[in-house]
Amino acid sequence: MTVKSKLAVINNNIAVACEQSERSPNEVAIIAVTKYVSTERALEAHDAGIIHFGENRDDGLTSKWEAFKGQAVWHFIGTLQTRKVKNIIDKVSFIHSLDRLSLAKEINKRADKQIKCFVQVNVSGEESKHGINPDEVIPFIEQLSEYQNIVIVGLMTMAPHTDDSSIPRACFRKLKHIQIEIAKMKLAHAPCTELSMGMSNDYLIAIEEGSTFVRIGTALVGEESKEG
Ligand SMILES: *Cc1c(COP(=O)(O)O)cnc(C)c1O
Repeated sequence: MTVKSKLAVINNNIAVACEQSERSPNEVAIIAVTKYVSTERALEAHDAGIIHFGENRDDGLTSKWEAFKGQAVWHFIGTLQTRKVKNIIDKVSFIHSLDRLSLAKEINKRADKQIKCFVQVNVSGEESKHGINPDEVIPFIEQLSEYQNIVIVGLMTMAPHTDDSSIPRACFRKLKHIQIEIAKMKLAHAPCTELSMGMSNDYLIAIEEGSTFVRIGTALVGEESKEG
């Protein structure tokens, strides 16, 4: 299947999920996660109409960003080492993995414009997952007010991989509750209106629970290393 036809299927699925949850598909942006694929495949997604692209390594981001020649909106979606910030900061509009003060400090120092950040939350409590604990999110965000180049646009999480859909659903629902709580605080540096949640295997559940950015890799651009 071409990227274009996969996108058509995904858009159709999103439309159904939005209808079921009485949302508008316009509220949901698709980020094509291209970390497993070539620049050619990423460009194919761009030709199919994708605007948002996500990478989880500084070198992958840099090589694709250069090939795109300023087109598209770039998202950094993975664990971000503090010393790698300088390599990506002039290329990304969004960082989805803000999870510690030292990282905020470095982003703030290196950026010459406001960077839209998601605070990554470990809702499920799995040890393997990055992110801060749900009850530490508000105090963490309150500490960020002095960082002028950081705006907290929302929260991000990764749900556990499981066949039981009630588990990711509960995770996404909890993140939505925290997001609403923060949005209500009306902090100038943290409008916190967005939710980055949902991947290839759980994006429809995430949308039903309020996601505004779904991060889709395998289901959209495939995974070239596993293709024949
Ligand atoms: C790889 C990755 C994705 C996309 O995963 P798929 O299951 O292939 O859709 C989404 N978010 C993050 C943070 C990732 O690292």
